[in-house]
Amino acid sequence: VNKPIQVKEFPLVDPDERSLTVKIDMASLCGTDVHMWRGRRIVPFPLIPGHEGIGRIHKLGKKVSKDSAGNKVRSGDRIVWSHVLHCRNCYYCFIKKDPSGCQNKIIYGYISSSEHPYLNGTLAEYMYLRPNTVFYIVPEEISDEVVVPASCALGTAINGINRARVDLGDNVLVQGIGPLGLYSIALAKERGAKKVVAIGEPGIRFETAKLFGADYVINRFALDVNQRIQKVKDLFDGRGADLAIECSGYSPVIIEGIEMLDHGGRYLLLGTASENVKMLEINPSKITLRRLLLIGSRATEPHHLLEAIKYLQLTKLPVERMISHKYSLEDAEKAFKAYEDLKVVKAAFTL
Ligand SMILES: [Zn+2]
Ligand SMILES: [Zn+2]
Repeated sequence: VNKPIQVKEFPLVDPDERSLTVKIDMASLCGTDVHMWRGRRIVPFPLIPGHEGIGRIHKLGKKVSKDSAGNKVRSGDRIVWSHVLHCRNCYYCFIKKDPSGCQNKIIYGYISSSEHPYLNGTLAEYMYLRPNTVFYIVPEEISDEVVVPASCALGTAINGINRARVDLGDNVLVQGIGPLGLYSIALAKERGAKKVVAIGEPGIRFETAKLFGADYVINRFALDVNQRIQKVKDLFDGRGADLAIECSGYSPVIIEGIEMLDHGGRYLLLGTASENVKMLEINPSKITLRRLLLIGSRATEPHHLLEAIKYLQLTKLPVERMISHKYSLEDAEKAFKAYEDLKVVKAAFTL
């Protein structure tokens, strides 16, 4: 935790018959990678960080002939893969059909690199994909920059928004304009929202929020909390949001988010995903009397990655602008620091 990030060499082992190895082309940084480094997420060091990536098949195990959508694969094919490996057998995977509750899951980028097969993260030249890893061929017309964040950031936004719905003509509020917020803006807009309003900090992501489809972006520091609530209501026909999406990860904004909803509104909580957050005091009658629906969502399931690829083929928005800065592995620490200082929209590594 907090120690210098080092470039090290690990063995590149041949895949067993149901695995494959990938030559990584590009990897992108997620906020969680930074949280791990800073000790806010407990993981077994040493590890190779990174769970967002795209690459080409290096070697295929004997029994791997198709991707998870049934397309034939060969070495050299460009693929993305789900960073979460669910067991498919536990109560949540098999009975509840909600693998996010899987008790036996493995998450690439979160596991130690000290044991075979070592290459478990995307911030590396090669990666080892274990049996049952869901992966898909990427159509050549979409660039690495567009696809690289799909497995985590975009998949997470799709998963949550699928649960919370965007109805045609909805007024949608997005709190937070990090990668999760930016994708939520884009998805809400292209799924038929009447107006999308975002709230965020000034900086590089402020303009990106507009490029991704926000009709209005509120600088959260220019207004106090009551002014922010009033502003959102004014922008949404004097009523408030039909759907609000919390993507900031700063739990106190949930209190104002509840106030910003219209009667009967839906509140999707995506951003706060740690035990170590500020506790909230909420008047529950604000939820009951206004018939609000609170919806939590986390991470993604493998089919959201395929949905993400389809979305990226269809979107008219400049989603390639998500990757604002590129680094080499030797500059990893610079990238991590730029991320935490909000100097980048998203940082990527070319490998
Ligand atoms: Zn992530
Ligand atoms: Zn399971």
